Amino acid sequence: VSNTVNIYCKNRTARHDFVFSLLFEELLGAQYQYVNDSNQALLNYSNESLGFGINCIPHGLLSEDTIRASVQDEISFEAWGGTSCFFKTGSSTLPFDLFSATFYLVSRYEEYLDHTPDVHLRFSAESSVLLKNKVLDKPLVNLWALALKEIMLELKPQLKFKPRSFQFISTLDIDQAWKFKHKGIIRNVGGFVIDLISLNTENLKARIPVILGIKTDPFYNFEWQKEVHSKEKIQTKYFFLLGNYSRYDKNTSYRNRSFKRLIKEVSLFTRSRVGIHPSYLSNMSNKQLKKEFKRLNNVTGKKPTLSRQHYLMHKMPETYQNLVAFGIKEEHTMGYSTHLGFRAGIAAPFHFFDLSTNTKTDMVLYPFCAMDITPLHYRNENPTEAILTLKNLMNQVKEVGGLFIPLWHNESLSESGRWKDWRKVYQFLLEESNSSLSS
Ligand SMILES: [Zn+2]
Repeated sequence: VSNTVNIYCKNRTARHDFVFSLLFEELLGAQYQYVNDSNQALLNYSNESLGFGINCIPHGLLSEDTIRASVQDEISFEAWGGTSCFFKTGSSTLPFDLFSATFYLVSRYEEYLDHTPDVHLRFSAESSVLLKNKVLDKPLVNLWALALKEIMLELKPQLKFKPRSFQFISTLDIDQAWKFKHKGIIRNVGGFVIDLISLNTENLKARIPVILGIKTDPFYNFEWQKEVHSKEKIQTKYFFLLGNYSRYDKNTSYRNRSFKRLIKEVSLFTRSRVGIHPSYLSNMSNKQLKKEFKRLNNVTGKKPTLSRQHYLMHKMPETYQNLVAFGIKEEHTMGYSTHLGFRAGIAAPFHFFDLSTNTKTDMVLYPFCAMDITPLHYRNENPTEAILTLKNLMNQVKEVGGLFIPLWHNESLSESGRWKDWRKVYQFLLEESNSSLSS
């Protein structure tokens, strides 16, 4: 068969299967099979040296079945081709263990190890090996897969690949569907007092006309979203916050009729799907998480299968284990709010491999690479600068035929407060996703 890669590899584990399936099948659109006779191998993943094919000396990580803290000390980055690599094991065609390096990044190995969490107890970008080595903005795993493809084609030109092509899915978190409306009298009076004390003239002028129905609520811009998404034929995934009101969970009540109607409407938009946005407090209680699942189920009539954590609250592996148990199939938390780029070193969906049990799960992680707040707040960019930065990032994803996922909010499309003038940044992403690679 001309699209099958023969691999010579002894003592195979779940980790080998996971990595080979990701690289060969999911990213390169080929097949692979293990061969017992090294003479038939295209890829020799062993310590035996053969005089033909690709020889890759294993680092050893894939043969282990536990989490080992000292692995961190074995990582040092070096240049390779036009990119960088780590886990150097040899000097031939494949001088590093591409397979172990891929596994280390996509299993999020480092997130299981000792690290200094941020104020919300999350793994911070500063702790990551990719940021420390200034390659967080490179889809390394995609680049490695494509480089591997070139090497294989040189040795076996008749091999057939069907690599992934560039894809764009927009994802939106609905933390507060309305800024003023549908929040009840108490929250609005409280908000009014805060606006007075802080002299927020924009809010003072807007609040009453919005509540009286004379003006549209600034956060309620779903009609506009529907229009631009439809114009550019964009696939969207919406995540609704259905928590109880708390310091970090400020959504409209899940009991509110207008809110329920909105969720239904959005689920019926073309190319749109609706998922759950587990609240900040749900991280402290599985009972609360269960309630929120039920709330969304009651509105849509379906069990939620898409999810993203509010505040990107996430701890490895408990958060994902919970979501797997609740039936989530597509999870969207993999990314940072503080930095653009690829938290798992990859711009493509991949399965959650649970290192604590050493098994591949059915849940697929969809990494996002650009969040609305990152250019505005953490990079201190204006909309024009943000457009340029995001264009460069998207070009990198286009070059490797990867998946580009932005994370936006209806708030950042409101053209109000600090988001004035930022709609065009989002609109740029949508339009750019439909244009071919340009400089
Ligand atoms: Zn949120």
